[in-house]
Amino acid sequence: MSSAEAEAKALDAGDPGHRELFDIPPADGGAFPEVAYFAGNSLGLRPKATRVELLADLDSWAELGVEGHLDAARPWLPYHSLLTGPAARLVGALESETVVMNSLTVNLHLLMVSFYRPAPDRFKIVIEDSAFPSDSYAVRSQARFHGFSPDEAVVRLRPRPGEDVLRTADVVERISDPDVALVLLGGVNYLTGELMDIPAITAAGRAAGAVVGWDLAHAAGNVPLSLHEWDVDFAAWCSYKYLNSGPGALAGVFVHERHLDAPLQRFEGWWSTDAASRFEMAAESRPPASADAWQVSNPPIFSMSPVRTSLELFDQVGIGVLRERSLRLTAYLESLLALITPTRQLQVITPTDPSRRGAQLSLRIGGGLRAGELAKVLRFEFGVIADAREPDVLRLAPVPLYSLYHDCWRAVQALAEAVPENA
Ligand SMILES: *Cc1c(COP(=O)(O)O)cnc(C)c1O
Repeated sequence: MSSAEAEAKALDAGDPGHRELFDIPPADGGAFPEVAYFAGNSLGLRPKATRVELLADLDSWAELGVEGHLDAARPWLPYHSLLTGPAARLVGALESETVVMNSLTVNLHLLMVSFYRPAPDRFKIVIEDSAFPSDSYAVRSQARFHGFSPDEAVVRLRPRPGEDVLRTADVVERISDPDVALVLLGGVNYLTGELMDIPAITAAGRAAGAVVGWDLAHAAGNVPLSLHEWDVDFAAWCSYKYLNSGPGALAGVFVHERHLDAPLQRFEGWWSTDAASRFEMAAESRPPASADAWQVSNPPIFSMSPVRTSLELFDQVGIGVLRERSLRLTAYLESLLALITPTRQLQVITPTDPSRRGAQLSLRIGGGLRAGELAKVLRFEFGVIADAREPDVLRLAPVPLYSLYHDCWRAVQALAEAVPENA
């Protein structure tokens, strides 16, 4: 064992995380029994408890039939409320401001029904040029739905020429224009890993008269958030990335308290009405003054179960503790990368300031090597799972719950061999 590998092993012994709570995919050959998993920002790994808890919920159905709505160990009618507390604590919200439902893009649409209310002189929606495509399609279709040209309505923020990430001051300047109706940015950009200054941008946008919403797909479970205190208007996030709730898992929603009693437009269904009077089967809904009012349908219990298990785990460990380990792990990965990038066509494009990033380092690959090709070599020759965004970005996410320092060592070792040195 090299001294560098021994150092990684020693760091793992001193700072172990919670890997034992997760199922780690086997490597299927190679020098190590398990893969080095860096795709937790794309699909988080399965907590061992998920299988047990999901089977227990599933068995309630076998044992109780329809009576499970009230009599299951975790009754189905109020099941979603079991997720509300842990989700609220995770994002720094009041319980009344939070609900878990649907999937992320669906939630963005339901929230825009309430929060994108364009007027002829104020109809623009500001996103990042490198927004996740789903967000781009969602806002363009909303603009069209309201009778505006998407090319005119959607403003895409680009980094300055020669730069990879956005500057807060530039964002603030653009969103301060009086034509901006809605600002909808990623809290952590999926491509570059840049953590935006959520409080500063929220304050600036709101002061200028815009509504400010956040897509927290890459922020929830990654960095500490204080959505209530930051006065964010609304937010949404998925649960299958850092939140480890499984492919297509149900998503989260935040609506600030000041909007909960306001006469907002909403698309409603029987789950939008107050739970106490739901079964009076009245013709008109009576929405509660909480984020629950944004629900539409009765929720899929067996999809909620893995989200509940995972949120309870975050609740036990605490996002503050995870962020501390995350900072150490990402700094370690960065320090190893710094040893190989000067001599290779590899460049970290994620901000170097730890307060401007989460658990992800994005690498730009040069020299004509495609990211997808590199990811295949890493996977099949070295057992390292990274995420490629064509043509030239490779994303590595050391996840504080289960990633190892030794995984970081393996990834950089593999990159050193797979990416040729400059001639
Ligand atoms: C992952 C991700 C999505 C995915 O959308 P779904 O509705 O969950 O399929 C959307 N937006 C962002 C920013 C993402 O990172």
